[in-house]
Amino acid sequence: MELIDTIEAIDNLLPQTQCGDCGHPGCRPYAEAIAKGEPINRCPPGGDKTIVALAAFLQRDILPLDGITKPKTVAFIREEECIGCTKCIDACPVDAILGAAKHMHTVIIDECTGCNLCVDPCPVDCIDMLPAISDQLDKPMHYKTRLLARNSRLQRIAEQREKLRASRKQKLESKTTETLKPKSKLDEVRDAIARAKAKKSALAPASSDRS
Ligand code: SF4
Ligand code: SF4
Repeated sequence: MELIDTIEAIDNLLPQTQCGDCGHPGCRPYAEAIAKGEPINRCPPGGDKTIVALAAFLQRDILPLDGITKPKTVAFIREEECIGCTKCIDACPVDAILGAAKHMHTVIIDECTGCNLCVDPCPVDCIDMLPAISDQLDKPMHYKTRLLARNSRLQRIAEQREKLRASRKQKLESKTTETLKPKSKLDEVRDAIARAKAKKSALAPASSDRS
């Protein structure tokens, strides 16, 4: 099996909460580390179930969990305290938060992975992690689909911004080049004729007055 396929298969055995409790910035980076030999027991949300699945797939020993299993939770925004800063939206890896700038925000409970990543960025501390209903967090492939969709959306936006920035830069450069470009002899002659014509037409009414 190619390394990339192994990483993908390992990633699919992780809970896709993207919480970072394994010490990596998301499930995929931990999958990459496992493929390179990192222990398989560092995912607290996955717990024993994930360790057993990883051990079977990778033909490694089952290890005790290196971490503390926390009760499953989902985010809840105290909406009356929300100032609409959108920082939680930026932090949520699965687009589980709805809201617009300067308006109240809310969490789509069914989409929340319980990762906790929105809590710290909130400047008014109005996000609580509350106990989840038992099966609420057990849909890793659904979370992965949402994560990938969000990543492609962000990438598309970044590419569009980069294109816009490049085209503005190009326009500015061509304008500057145009201004600085030395005039050819022909242009100078044309300019001189235009100046002479303008002068002549400016004097024309005065000469007819005299006659
Ligand atoms: S709402 Fe908060 S806790 Fe839930 S998935 Fe998004 S960032 Fe994580
Ligand atoms: S980070 Fe907090 S205050 Fe800002 S929009 Fe989210 S919930 Fe509201």
